[in-house]
Amino acid sequence: MENIQGFLILNVYALLLIIAVSIIFFSKKRQKQTEDQTYAQFLITNIAISISGLVLGILVAPNLNTNPGIIAIANKIYLVCLLIWIAILTFYTFYISLNNKEKTNKLKMFFYIITLISIAIIMCLPINVEMINNAALATGPAIVFTYLVFGIGFITQLMCIIIDHKNLKNKKYIPIYLLIVGGVIVLIVQMMYPTLNYLVNPALIYIAFIMYHTIENPDLNHIKELNFAKEQAEKANRAKTDFLSNMSHEIRTPLNAIVGFSECMLDSTDLKETKEYAGDIVDASKQLLEIVNGILDISKIEANKVEIIPKNYNPREVFDGLRKLVLPRIKEKPIEFKMVFSPDLPGILRGDVSKVKQVILNILTNAAKYTDKGEIVFNVNCINRLDTKTCLMYISVKDTGHGIKKEKLETIFGKFERIDEDKNTTTEGTGLGLAITKSLVDLMGGRITVFSKYGEGSTFRVYLEQEIVSMEVPKTEEAEEDEINYTNYNGKKILIVDDSKINLKVAETLMKPYNFEIDTAISGFEALEKANDKNYDLIFMDIMMPKMNGVETLYKLREHEDFTTPVIALTADAIEGTDEKYLSVGFNSYLSKPIDRKLLNKVINKYLGGK
Ligand code: ADP
Repeated sequence: MENIQGFLILNVYALLLIIAVSIIFFSKKRQKQTEDQTYAQFLITNIAISISGLVLGILVAPNLNTNPGIIAIANKIYLVCLLIWIAILTFYTFYISLNNKEKTNKLKMFFYIITLISIAIIMCLPINVEMINNAALATGPAIVFTYLVFGIGFITQLMCIIIDHKNLKNKKYIPIYLLIVGGVIVLIVQMMYPTLNYLVNPALIYIAFIMYHTIENPDLNHIKELNFAKEQAEKANRAKTDFLSNMSHEIRTPLNAIVGFSECMLDSTDLKETKEYAGDIVDASKQLLEIVNGILDISKIEANKVEIIPKNYNPREVFDGLRKLVLPRIKEKPIEFKMVFSPDLPGILRGDVSKVKQVILNILTNAAKYTDKGEIVFNVNCINRLDTKTCLMYISVKDTGHGIKKEKLETIFGKFERIDEDKNTTTEGTGLGLAITKSLVDLMGGRITVFSKYGEGSTFRVYLEQEIVSMEVPKTEEAEEDEINYTNYNGKKILIVDDSKINLKVAETLMKPYNFEIDTAISGFEALEKANDKNYDLIFMDIMMPKMNGVETLYKLREHEDFTTPVIALTADAIEGTDEKYLSVGFNSYLSKPIDRKLLNKVINKYLGGK
């Protein structure tokens, strides 16, 4: 009798303990994940076991003389709780060892069904309650069945651990190890003293308690999450530092040439030599510009700031233009350049032509850069679907160049990835080209592939879907001249507005050959004053200026009704879609810095009436 009281007190303590753990657990912010939810169910089941076990313990107290039928029902409820307990713990083990969300979610259903069937069986099977030495002893098929289910649960958990034997040290298995050790001890004690069934509850609750303090504490999980976030942040930071150090190296290389040659120019008195230095400076500057543009493109792409801006275009004209851009790169090498268009290539397509150009130009430029002799074949094929008005272009560029090693094919689309650098030291490049190309193709919903044989050549293919506007091939305009024919605009007055003296000087120098009368203004205010005094034929306006920016200055100029001078935005803001941006605020046209002399010539001729 005293023994029973002692065990009842032990059970009360166990109940209080599990209630305390549950309160702490449920009051914390938790992750709503399967593992967490399973532990929550586990805690609730533990409370249920504790209470039903206690009720049963009280009911069988000898002086109560409880009806054996009621004891049997209470006993069955207790058995059902035990059954749910082992089902949850087995599912938990499965979940950890499988580590596969989809599979475990399917298993969940299976566990529900098996548990429900087992509960039904327990409820149906008979149970006998005998009083031995003042203590109740439950026997019969329901008890045997519960032992059986516990045994199966045990074995399943053991099997999970054996299958996942590589992770035996996984802390998550602690409760299972405890269950195995505790289960064996409890079984032995029960065999020796069959009436001591009050031992089971505290043992089970002890497992839940240890679990809380080792693996299922929400605080521990938060720390884990924080550590993960910290690692991610550190990784991103490292990537940024690598990017910066790569970038500064790439930028310093051409800058070194620019500074070095400029100093040589200052010392040189020989005109021929000076011109050579100037040529080298122009080459290095162009490379620098390419790097800066590449970095801008990459950062825009990574910040998801690149949008698709569809426009109508004539693919033949566009691709032919790209060919012309690439030809100068191979003119000194024994390379034959072939361009083949499929005859059914539509006349006008609609898509983001500037991105299409950028992608194909990158691939063509690489072919030209990494091929020493042989041929480059530029092929544009397509499949037209007239019902949906779509054209799937597949554009290939095949070269007989250096080729790329098989193991490097995966990496060439990464940032700053250059391969065979020893071989390519004389070939300029940033390793950004293909990273940008791939991102742009992905953005346009296309695909890019590469086949290459080291030492023999490579084939890059781009698949892009574009909208068909017209199948008819329009007559192409006259080919653009390569050399600029400067028109003499003697007598015309132009104003250049920029807050940087150097930029003013550059613009002024570039415009000298036109023989205009050139005025400059260093701020928006000065521009307003000058425009008040003089009637200009054309104004070039910088955008980013302190106090009054270019757009504000333009608005002020336009306030005068008789102001009709065309105003051209001149800016270093080279983000795509900028031309629309500046046209929509009232500029007549837009030129980006560094100023391209051919584009400048076009604008000047357009507004000053030349050809
Ligand atoms: P890069 O500015 O160095 O050309 P890319 O990102 O365009 O950078 O290309 C990455 C690397 O892929 C190049 O450094 C080069 O080694 C290799 N590569 C790209 N295209 C070709 C090609 N057509 N033939 C051989 N190698 C190529």
